[in-house]
Amino acid sequence: MNASSGRVALVTGAGRGIGRAVAIELGTRGYRVALNYQNSEAAAAEAARIIQSSGGAAFAVQADVSRPDMVKRLTDAVTGEFGPIEVLVCNAGITRDNLLARMKDSEWDDVIRTNLNSVYYCAQAVIRGMIKARFGRIAAISSVSGLVGNAGQANYAAAKAGILGLIKSVARETASRGITANAIAPGFIETDMTSSLPDGVRAASLARIPVGRYGTPEDIAKATAFIVSDEASYITGQSLTVDGGMTM
Ligand code: NAP
Repeated sequence: MNASSGRVALVTGAGRGIGRAVAIELGTRGYRVALNYQNSEAAAAEAARIIQSSGGAAFAVQADVSRPDMVKRLTDAVTGEFGPIEVLVCNAGITRDNLLARMKDSEWDDVIRTNLNSVYYCAQAVIRGMIKARFGRIAAISSVSGLVGNAGQANYAAAKAGILGLIKSVARETASRGITANAIAPGFIETDMTSSLPDGVRAASLARIPVGRYGTPEDIAKATAFIVSDEASYITGQSLTVDGGMTM
């Protein structure tokens, strides 16, 4: 058992991809994990079973985290099952790529609501409990697109850069209460989100990665598990880039 054993963690978008890997990593490290999903009910239940079969505690809970009323129900459900949320990992995200000249308002709005507003709703829902407990860990999955921009992703990059400002402000507001807030900025990670990209885009991305391979969800999960661990208590308001050297 390690120092983090038994802590209550909520991971959003945990049925697939990076969120699933984060949930399983935390579960195997002894956290009690609530796996939020929007549509991937069976996959989230399966990931919860993987944690349970390794001796951990986990359950899956549905919510659209772009909606504040559903976030409230989500955090109430987790608190009811496991007690106050000590670790929040905001991972849920979507892409609606388009060049700015062609971008529709709905593409802008959907990405900002899902990728940025959700972090605000989730962080706000847990922060009072963390302040009361004088302990908390908030991690949000940003992106290298939020650091350096990306053609065709003005909406996504704006949301991911917005996460950085939000996280730094939360970090400043709560640092004296034992709470840390940090972002992880993944590069090109092999998930459903990147699998539909044209071969040319994938090849061009690979050529820009010094490590010479795409990242895996587990690469992000291990960095996230560190940043929310007790060992990272002196790290707050930071963005940890995990991109195989792509944007150094
Ligand atoms: P993915 O495989 O497409 O999975 C997206 C996840 O987000 C799914 O679990 C999905 O849940 C969830 N989600 C989407 N909208 C939601 C909502 N309104 N409420 C609750 N959950 C919602 O993507 P991924 O690659 O794992 O991405 C995870 C995070 O990493 C995202 O924030 C993404 O922007 C970021 N990221 C990814 C990469 C990359 O290269 N893959 C790079 C940088 C950053 P359901 O399946 O249940 O609907």
